Amino acid sequence: MIKNGTQVTVLGAARSGIAAAKLLKQLNAVPFVSDISNEEKLIDAANLLQKEGIKYEFGKHSDKVYDSEMVIISPGVPTNSEIVKQIKAKNIRIVSELEFASSVCKATLIAITGTNGKTTTTSLMSHVLKSCKKSSYTAGNIGLALSELTAEINEDEFVALEVSSFQLDFIEKFKPKISMILNITPDHLNRYDNDFGKYAASKLKIFSNQDVNDWLIVNADDENLSVVNEIKSPKVFKFSLQNEVMNGAYLRNSEIIYKENGIEEFKCSINDIFLRGEHNYANVMAVVIAAKLLGCENEEILLGLKSFKGVEHRLEFVRNVEGVSFINDSKATNVDSVWYALRSFDQPIFLILGGQDKGNDYSKIENLVVDKVKKIYAIGSSADTVFKYFHKKVKVEIKYSLEECVLTANKETNHGDIVLLSPACASFDMFKNYEHRGEVFKKAVEAL
Ligand code: ADP
Repeated sequence: MIKNGTQVTVLGAARSGIAAAKLLKQLNAVPFVSDISNEEKLIDAANLLQKEGIKYEFGKHSDKVYDSEMVIISPGVPTNSEIVKQIKAKNIRIVSELEFASSVCKATLIAITGTNGKTTTTSLMSHVLKSCKKSSYTAGNIGLALSELTAEINEDEFVALEVSSFQLDFIEKFKPKISMILNITPDHLNRYDNDFGKYAASKLKIFSNQDVNDWLIVNADDENLSVVNEIKSPKVFKFSLQNEVMNGAYLRNSEIIYKENGIEEFKCSINDIFLRGEHNYANVMAVVIAAKLLGCENEEILLGLKSFKGVEHRLEFVRNVEGVSFINDSKATNVDSVWYALRSFDQPIFLILGGQDKGNDYSKIENLVVDKVKKIYAIGSSADTVFKYFHKKVKVEIKYSLEECVLTANKETNHGDIVLLSPACASFDMFKNYEHRGEVFKKAVEAL
């Protein structure tokens, strides 16, 4: 716990930074918020901080940053940035908002990380726990910062916590009861000096403080996670789409099976689950394991799985227009998630691909595209790259807006086809964010 009067700098005035500053004040510490963006951009934050009587500076990081015993860093501030180097050089303790908030939190934490599937799994986890009559919340990257919640929740409550590698970069004692690593594939490498090893290492930190009474749930099919075979604690449970698992969950024909010490303890049919696609069965398996480890009843877990309708912008069914299904997967901002999206459908696909490219390697989806995609509509600043890569393999047309893609697709598709927005790219070249991109797509589809 933090001592009264401790001076703490909060770096970054986005949602989690503001929440951390407020929590510090509540704990009688003295927060100071510093953000490089100017006040015009941060007007809401400025109003809030003024109202709370919390000191801040915007548009710079001055020497005041160093007048503190500890710095709390928001996930938006890059680990390899100059300011972080300076703070480290001055030997000031630097922790993430996650480290700070979790040190105050009494509830049971289920921390979920991975390159893809975090939000879906976090939402499903909390949904299933609620269905098992446990008071549960979602927090972390998913919206609500843990600092916003932590002071109000008790020991008998649960938090499904979406954790990004950025937050794990600066943990010291963070110790969830259950941690999950869903998968590790290349993404966000720019923040890790293009070093996949560094990125993977930061995800593996999620279980670094767990002991033999805690659990780690990992994807057995992901070779980047095979390092966990060596660890002594926490206890490891695995999930697999490919092989039988003795402690954990796996797919047997069309059933999800959960076993403990080789004994079958739970099963459910994938036909009972609303979520589609193998990747989602993997997410479901991770949640089933956690629910079983927390002592949930089979019937109640099943009810939770059956009633979960998925998360917006993730393979979200929008509408059926004359037998053609329009699917919004705007959150697919890397090639790996498009790979799973394409595998989720048996029907011919008209794929909307492109946006702000983070150095995509399309070879991973090439075979699937040739197999399943009838035509690509290439959009955004990477439209040319997409065209060059695919035009000899499948029909590709460059389009200048999502609306145009939807209108053309409506003319060119037949009964039974799928129109899939799964762009493999960030959205910032044309949209405010991926949510905005998804909304624009849905509006265009609704207007047909
Ligand atoms: P995250 O929060 O990690 O970005 P989301 O749940 O928001 O993950 O999903 C992001 C994208 O990845 C969506 O396109 C979704 O369909 C896809 N996805 C979801 N779960 C997985 C998974 N386990 N493996 C690969 N892709 C996934």
